[in-house]
Amino acid sequence: MGRVVPVIGLVSAMAEELAAVIDVVHAEEVIEHGGRRYHRGRYAGEDVVCVISRIGKVAAATTVAILLERFRPRAVVMTGLAGGVDPRLAIGDIVIADTLIQHDLDARPLFPRHEIPLLGIAQLPADPALADRLARAAERFIVPPEVAALGITAPRVWRGLIASGDQFFSSSDAVAALRVLLPDTLAVEMEGAAVAQVCHEHGIPFAVARVISDTADHGAALDFARFLRDACGPYARALVEGVLTGVPSGRG
Ligand code: SAH
Repeated sequence: MGRVVPVIGLVSAMAEELAAVIDVVHAEEVIEHGGRRYHRGRYAGEDVVCVISRIGKVAAATTVAILLERFRPRAVVMTGLAGGVDPRLAIGDIVIADTLIQHDLDARPLFPRHEIPLLGIAQLPADPALADRLARAAERFIVPPEVAALGITAPRVWRGLIASGDQFFSSSDAVAALRVLLPDTLAVEMEGAAVAQVCHEHGIPFAVARVISDTADHGAALDFARFLRDACGPYARALVEGVLTGVPSGRG
């Protein structure tokens, strides 16, 4: 028995998306590297490293590559906000990725559209057990007053495809075009599939949960900003705490 207990990596793109977690982690140590701050501490009985990746696929991929290299996590969980593109989704709903795709990756005619060159796949599968735990955490989420104040009363939990790319969706035309291309897409964001690719290539289990902040239409910028300011804290805490209490120990 020693103190060599592999950590769980917790990643969000923006400070607001993980602040509620970082606040309670009381980091023993903050390691700065490449413009990112890796907060090492404990939460819900687990050793964790929290990091804000910043926005976009490159920022997310480089942050997670360093996270894997320096901290050797046994799993990575990304939480944050996303735009809903499936019309059944409402603001406040939670989407757990079963698979993720880079919607802006297109190396045709060398490779089929969306296929990651030389990896041979387009859709990256999340770790099913970790995704199940995130889904259970999402189902246990109890709406606090600050979330109810946005008109969210009974958020639903969805599982399926999340599409990521270096684009903020804020028009119905853009959403319609994406749905022609990838009709199964539930939600769109800017980092998840990049984190998925890095973890997949390193063989590290990962999962992604996104809360719908906007419906990716003309109101997206305003809805997103309001959700980020007023509502993302309780979701982040519930999802992270829920997933941590259920992650298999990997210590046997
Ligand atoms: N206005 C912000 C930029 C936010 S980008 C700023 O000024 O800094 C939106 C972030 O939330 C990204 O990290 C992305 O992953 C997620 N997201 C939420 N809604 C989105 C949408 N409609 N399209 C793409 N990404 C979205």
